[in-house]
Amino acid sequence: MHRLLPIHEIAPDLLDACSPNEGVRVVIEAPTGSGKSTQVPQILRDGRVTGDQEIVVLQPRRLAARMLARRVAWERGGRVGGEVGYQVRFDDATSRETKIRFVTEGLLMRQMLGERALPGVSAVVFDEFHERHFDGDVALARCLRIQEELRPDLKLIVMSATLEAEALLDYLGRPQTRRLVSSGRTYPVEIRYEPQRERTAGGLWDHVAKAMGEWYRGHGVEGHALVFMPGAYEIRKTVEAIERCSWARGFRVLPLHGELSPSAQDAAVEASDSPKIVVATNVAETSLTIDGVRLVVDAGLERRSDFDPRRGLATLRIEKISRASADQRAGRAGRTAPGVCLRLWSEEDHARRESSTPPEIHRLDLSDALLTLKAGGIHDVRRFRWFEPPQSQSLELGMKTLVEIGAVEVGSEKITQLGKELSRLPVSPRYGRMLFDAARAGCLEFFAVAAAATQTRGLFPNQKKRASDLTLADFMEPGDVSDFQPLYRAFCRAADLKFDGRACGEAGMNPGAGREMDKVARQFLSAFQRRHDLPADQGRVPGGEEIGRILLSGFADHVAIRLSEATLACHVVGGRKGLLEKASVVSGEDRPGKGANRPPFGRLLLAGEMVEVEGRDVTVRLSLATRIREEWLEELYPGDFQVVEGAVYDEIQRRVVAKTERRFRDLVIETRATGEVPPAEAARLLATEAAEGRLTLKHWDDAVEQWIARINTLAEAMPELEFMPFDAEARQLALEEICSGAFGYKEIKDRQVWPALQDWVPAHQMWLLDKHAPERVQLPGGRSVKVVYRHQAKPKISVLIQHLFGVRQTPCFAEGRMPLVVEILAPNHRPIQLTEDLAGFWAGSYAGVRAQLRGRYPKHEWPEPG
Ligand code: ADP
Ligand code: MG
Repeated sequence: MHRLLPIHEIAPDLLDACSPNEGVRVVIEAPTGSGKSTQVPQILRDGRVTGDQEIVVLQPRRLAARMLARRVAWERGGRVGGEVGYQVRFDDATSRETKIRFVTEGLLMRQMLGERALPGVSAVVFDEFHERHFDGDVALARCLRIQEELRPDLKLIVMSATLEAEALLDYLGRPQTRRLVSSGRTYPVEIRYEPQRERTAGGLWDHVAKAMGEWYRGHGVEGHALVFMPGAYEIRKTVEAIERCSWARGFRVLPLHGELSPSAQDAAVEASDSPKIVVATNVAETSLTIDGVRLVVDAGLERRSDFDPRRGLATLRIEKISRASADQRAGRAGRTAPGVCLRLWSEEDHARRESSTPPEIHRLDLSDALLTLKAGGIHDVRRFRWFEPPQSQSLELGMKTLVEIGAVEVGSEKITQLGKELSRLPVSPRYGRMLFDAARAGCLEFFAVAAAATQTRGLFPNQKKRASDLTLADFMEPGDVSDFQPLYRAFCRAADLKFDGRACGEAGMNPGAGREMDKVARQFLSAFQRRHDLPADQGRVPGGEEIGRILLSGFADHVAIRLSEATLACHVVGGRKGLLEKASVVSGEDRPGKGANRPPFGRLLLAGEMVEVEGRDVTVRLSLATRIREEWLEELYPGDFQVVEGAVYDEIQRRVVAKTERRFRDLVIETRATGEVPPAEAARLLATEAAEGRLTLKHWDDAVEQWIARINTLAEAMPELEFMPFDAEARQLALEEICSGAFGYKEIKDRQVWPALQDWVPAHQMWLLDKHAPERVQLPGGRSVKVVYRHQAKPKISVLIQHLFGVRQTPCFAEGRMPLVVEILAPNHRPIQLTEDLAGFWAGSYAGVRAQLRGRYPKHEWPEPG
């Protein structure tokens, strides 16, 4: 053990708090690096308050669970899997000897299903609780109940670096819960904001390298540096960018993220005498400590999994970190001595950021968690003892998913037999449902690989390196209707090559990704082993129809429809727009030498993967697609179809036609024209097309728009005249009148428009319009100039500077309340200046304008300023 760590100051209090035999609840607050994660389990074990039973330490992150186990095993002179072990999804390093077990929160949740009373466990330690992951929230709630109802001897310890303890103490129960605080040692950290200037070229990583270089050149090197980047890709780019710099000679540059090998991860965290630069994800924010860091460089971003309850879409996107996270990160520079933090964003940006990251319970798809609760005997999830209850919208959506896949009963929401089975699988219930159907059909191997493909990295790199490299297209065969078909063949090829690095690399495949897929697929397979109700042989390769039907059972909300054969654009269930990946089997794109492979065009498809396109609104990229047929949808979801009748404007015929729409949920599958429509409806639709600028009427010209703008300008400038503004509704009404009796564009395009507009301003008020918002303005000197009225802007005149000499003041309308904007033009009609203050122009910038123009236009008169 590391006896020098600050946490040991509270060790006696901790042991004292844990000594009672019943109802032990402890909250520990101590800054990052004080020894919570590595020491507390050892203090408990060596202090003999847990007997020979297990101490379970919950971690939000897999990487942290693995590394902490390695560290603690090493401190105790053992190996991982002995006294100290870890368990994360798809990876179990524990044995019967294991007494300190680091586990991810989600995994413990699943475990509590089978063994509700947590036999053999004496203490559960919730680490990093402030991160408020959904699984952690629920696990704590369940443990409280277990302690109250079944296991009073179970000890519960909640730890955090930045706990807002008050709410937690209320939740755990005030007098019963002991609160232990260790202030630890921290040094001041100087914060500097170094935003990337827009004009500098290069990615964020180049900015990191540049900012670090400048810092080191000016201040010299002291201690290590820690750079925060959002993900593996950005980390790799940053390492490369730093290594290219001459200032970085003498540094070791080390990446740290979950996809690295254990030895690479160790290398980043290990103590080092020579200066190193660790480029890490937010795992180094609080979970892992790197000693001796004096400089933190923070890109200010993180990959966050989110779930949008309105759209029902899970996203993993890069987001700006909160101010609380930024402070945590900065604090990493002040653990051993005063430090510095370079924030690569501006102070203004910082002030606008959210103060802390919202808890996952407000962000994620709850279907998985709700099913776990139900399987654990908690039927009424709405009245569950939440630390902080989820939004009812996300709760209802999660429940809807469960009903849809048959995990709970319609209406009663009771968990079904299928639901119980699904809750035991290490995947979300949607995937579970799909795998279950596959297993019943005897083709689990194929679907296990398909599901693994959606959960892991791609087998083929994004870019071909050499012409000889294979791509997915090389594995396509005539008649394929699903991207999973070539993908499975490619996977089998990689497996035949035994995922050998050289052999796979030569074929252009990524052996690491192949091994990962293999491992995950095996997990899926093993979840169904030893089930006598299922066929023993699961190796059958399903045909296209079977693939489509089985996918549909879990992913009805991934159904999309192509707009036409000529485009990859799709509509997706849930009102989303999508773009099908070009390389997909179902895209119908010609591939060299593969022309015969094109399947006949089918509009309906199901996307195995939907990724939100960053920066665009409600657009998703659809990949791993499979063609499906409407009949299958009808068979599986007969209640989700409806027929809607109405009228539409048909762009091709340029007419309003009656139509009947067939919809699957909100997705229009078919539209049929069915004759003509009531005239009022036709006029309304034509008017809307015209109002939105998709149809133009010959006589609705600029003069009409000016007339409208004049009315609106006056209505706003002189409200006492009570002119009604000519708004969008008025426009629609006027257009409807113009279009009345018509069904097509041909009939309306030459129609007169003034008759429908004139009455808007009563005749006896026209003089007011002409007086206060006239079409032309008379300048002193007698020249008349056209006024341009504009939407939501002041009226403007454009005048040659020569014509303005002698015009001292800005002309005004509306009894002097509305000065015109004057655009002053040079003799060549180029604008010189826009002003609402002519007097100011003459007294100010005119002198400079004159000096410039006089040289160019010597023949013109240029009166002296003043
Ligand atoms: P906390 O959980 O309070 O943030 P930890 O228990 O994770 O603290 O770490 C305590 C100290 O142990 C760290 O400050 C660091 O000095 C050391 N430490 C932890 N893990 C490692 C490791 N893998 N390699 C080297 N030192 C480590
Ligand atoms: Mg910790």
